[in-house]
Amino acid sequence: MPDRPMVDLEQVSCSYVEGERRHDILRGISASVRAGETVALLGRSGSGKSTLLNVISGLAAPSSGRIWVDGEEVTGRDERARTLLRRRAIGVIYQFFNLIDTLSVADNVLLPLELAGRLDDGARSRVLGLLDEVGLGERREAFPDRLSGGEQQRVALVRALAHAPPLVLADEPTGNLDAETGEQVLTLLDRLVRDRGHTLILVTHSLEIAARADRVLHLEDGRLVEAA
Ligand code: ADP
Ligand code: MG
Repeated sequence: MPDRPMVDLEQVSCSYVEGERRHDILRGISASVRAGETVALLGRSGSGKSTLLNVISGLAAPSSGRIWVDGEEVTGRDERARTLLRRRAIGVIYQFFNLIDTLSVADNVLLPLELAGRLDDGARSRVLGLLDEVGLGERREAFPDRLSGGEQQRVALVRALAHAPPLVLADEPTGNLDAETGEQVLTLLDRLVRDRGHTLILVTHSLEIAARADRVLHLEDGRLVEAA
């Protein structure tokens, strides 16, 4: 099914109330991302890109509208159900890596499988193989604070893919890296998601990076505009 939707947004709005004022961040967004697509999401700082990723992953609830991920509705479910959906279907990469400093590299990347109750020998060797693939097989026992920023982000990339989630969300994953290191991380991310058929939504400021995506969406004034 080549056109199977992976993410569906129906009239999604998100507002924050601050004192007397209401800020409308997302204003009735409807969009669909197909399985296997790579989508670049662009927009000014503060335009709501992270908010949009957070409502897709169920970490935040929209004010109104409905969202589906991989055929399951995210909206209208309790926190527990959203957590289970996230553990099954979604991998997230953040700007600031968010690795657990008290766990080794290997334990960091195996954690999602452990949480999902899916850490068997096959899964373990698949994930450690991914670490080899990003060039960090020999740093398995190291702790994150011994790694460079680029290495930490490669670990975070493996962690995001560890449970083979159909959907990967990356929120400015190169925002904290120098240009060359960022380029390496993105090349890896691009290759891994395409090889494995993951769907990717990638927030970036770089038009160059966006040019590699299958589609480019701009978030402007709370609405999504598709680039020509
Ligand atoms: P972007 O990722 O595009 O930079 P964000 O989604 O982080 O934008 O934020 C969009 C707007 O929503 C910003 O003005 C931000 O200050 C505001 N915002 C984000 N999260 C909250 C929150 N929890 N409470 C109030 N305002 C928020
Ligand atoms: Mg953001």
